[in-house]
Amino acid sequence: TNHLADTLGLSRTDRATHPFAELRDGRHFSYGDVTALSARMAAAVTGLGVKPGDRVAVQVDKSIEALMLYLGVIRAGAVFLPLNTGYTAQEIDYFVGNAEPSLLVCAPGRREALEPVASAAGCRLETLGVWQDDGGEHGSLLGHVPDSAEGFADVPRGPEDLAAILYTSGTTGRSKGAMLSHDNLASNALVLRDFWQFTADDVLLHALPIFHTHGLFVATNTTLVAGGALLFREKFDAGAVLEDLPRATAMMGVPTFYTRLLAEPGLSREAVKNIRVFISGSAPLLAETHRDWQARTGHAILERYGMTETSMNSSNPYDGERRAGTVGFPLPGTEVVVTDPETGVPLPAGEIGMVEVRGPNVFKGYWRMPEKTAEELRETGFFITGDLGRYDADGYLSIVGRSKDLIISGGYNVYPKEIETAIDAIEGVVESAVIGLPHPDFGEGVAAVVVRSDPGLSAETLLGALEGQLARFKQPKRVFFEDELPRNTMGKVEKKALRERFAGTFQ
Ligand code: ATP
Ligand code: MG
Repeated sequence: TNHLADTLGLSRTDRATHPFAELRDGRHFSYGDVTALSARMAAAVTGLGVKPGDRVAVQVDKSIEALMLYLGVIRAGAVFLPLNTGYTAQEIDYFVGNAEPSLLVCAPGRREALEPVASAAGCRLETLGVWQDDGGEHGSLLGHVPDSAEGFADVPRGPEDLAAILYTSGTTGRSKGAMLSHDNLASNALVLRDFWQFTADDVLLHALPIFHTHGLFVATNTTLVAGGALLFREKFDAGAVLEDLPRATAMMGVPTFYTRLLAEPGLSREAVKNIRVFISGSAPLLAETHRDWQARTGHAILERYGMTETSMNSSNPYDGERRAGTVGFPLPGTEVVVTDPETGVPLPAGEIGMVEVRGPNVFKGYWRMPEKTAEELRETGFFITGDLGRYDADGYLSIVGRSKDLIISGGYNVYPKEIETAIDAIEGVVESAVIGLPHPDFGEGVAAVVVRSDPGLSAETLLGALEGQLARFKQPKRVFFEDELPRNTMGKVEKKALRERFAGTFQ
């Protein structure tokens, strides 16, 4: 048996005719196609010399072929290692040097740029294009795919064997490779299916990238274990999503999906009439977005919380109140505690501390970083997430921010989120990012980077509005107005970049 392949039902014959994916170009794939194509991909990578436990690194555009490659790598008993499509050859060089894959797969147009990287690492390089003849490039990998994989048997893998190495988004520092086992992924898929009530009747609008846990595991694995279908879209485009929404029953997105859709006049109750649930994660959803979405569509967005290392940890309820600004309750089987960052002792509700997580979803450690692993994974099994959080009296968890973004000014802790929330509430403000910058007197000085809709809004007006609300040490000492906040592909605000940019402000 192959634990993850079996859990995802990749060899099941009882649902072969059920639709799995519909593409924008009109192509359709059934579950029978998934079974056959993933086996053929598995046969291809095996034929190229990939052995059980080998890493297969993949930097390709989002495509159904890439998704089948993921499933094929799992069935071949190898370790899937997807890479952000935005990475340069130099960055890929780091990942490939670190992960030592036996096979690197890239887009046809990238072969030349990555050839030196592959040969330096001593790994084989193949390219992946599209299955069909009509237009588009095939790439070299498909040439190795046999016409039929009859006779291919899944390589046996147990629950503890590695299924994937997924690099973190690199928001707080250099990306780390999280080692995820078959059961890390399988258990989370089953929990999410049940918690969010996914069934074979669901049609999930899938516009997320598939090099990240959100689009690859949360969206895809949950759909596979439920036997549902995907409207598989190569990228997020608000106009196109609006056209697709009436046929979907569910959508998963990062917060920017929701804010961009809100900017579309066509977003209405009618457009979402078949939707049963909207899910958000990967970055904080503003309470305002939650309210605006509910007013426009009648749906309370279901916000959940997770990360590369743990898949999903907590979620707002499916039935019951979805509380804006919170990430809900721990998922069944997962413990989520808030502890004193100094002592590790659990804190009572209402107090801010470090979020720690334990459960079958928690990863096996960082690839080739034993020290980092030892720092963040306690012997008790709890993973120290690096996020600061707080439980309210009803057991809803809120993420207050990252511990690395915590500002210590004049010896006082300043939680950026509290100040951002106050700034965002000011008339004429779209959004904000509050950061700490080196300060000769205070250690760190509070600064605010603000995006405004009212060009007449001045720093004086803004600071005046905060005066009565926030203690003096929390009030920004400088305000910068910007056209937008820097964000990475997952919609996360890059505070590190802001800190670097404005580093000299108080010096
Ligand atoms: P790195 O670990 O390399 O700095 P990263 O933490 O951004 O990058 P990911 O694993 O993609 O990499 O992101 C996980 C993080 O995203 C969480 O630790 C948390 O800070 C944030 N996050 C995810 N979901 C939510 C949410 N619903 N609300 C607030 N923050 C969230
Ligand atoms: Mg992280």
